[in-house]
Amino acid sequence: MKRFILSSLFISLIVTACSKDAETPTVEIVDEFEQIYSCVSYDDLLDPKNTNQDDLMQYWTKFVEDVKCSRGGPDYSERNPSLNIFFEYRSAAQISAGVTPDHIAYSTFSGYCNDNRVNVGVLYNEWTEKNLLQRLWIMYHEFGHDVYKYEHSTNPADIMYPSSTRSDINVNDFIEAKDRLFKRSFTGIKYISCPGE
Ligand SMILES: [Zn+2]
Repeated sequence: MKRFILSSLFISLIVTACSKDAETPTVEIVDEFEQIYSCVSYDDLLDPKNTNQDDLMQYWTKFVEDVKCSRGGPDYSERNPSLNIFFEYRSAAQISAGVTPDHIAYSTFSGYCNDNRVNVGVLYNEWTEKNLLQRLWIMYHEFGHDVYKYEHSTNPADIMYPSSTRSDINVNDFIEAKDRLFKRSFTGIKYISCPGE
């Protein structure tokens, strides 16, 4: 009896696998464009079933891995042993200044003017209203301030544009923009100046 249950389970697994195969073309139609090359995959962060939506550290981990494989380094996890990446439950109005872009997240003086510290706050309510690609974009924007000390860009296609988290961006827009971010090659590039520099 036990053996029968096992084998029928096995058969049903095969059937499921086959029917999954048969559905593959439909799934590909949903992917309207071909994704351009990136040495890291963002699939884990962009899949609502896989990503832990309350885990901000996964964005830092991805960013570090991305810089390492896109540019061969540096290892920002080694350079920034002190990490403070957190949700804010106050409203944008309660946090008086420096909340960008679109009042969703902010980086602070204690992060971008401190070479071994990352300090990024994310407004929880606003965050949950954004899609997963926008969230990835927002976190790279904040790491752009904190790690690269970038000021804002004037080009809406850049990650450092202050309010470029449009809902219609696609993953290729993101990949092109992050390549420019890492290569330090976007228009109007400027750096935050810190005391003593
Ligand atoms: Zn900003």
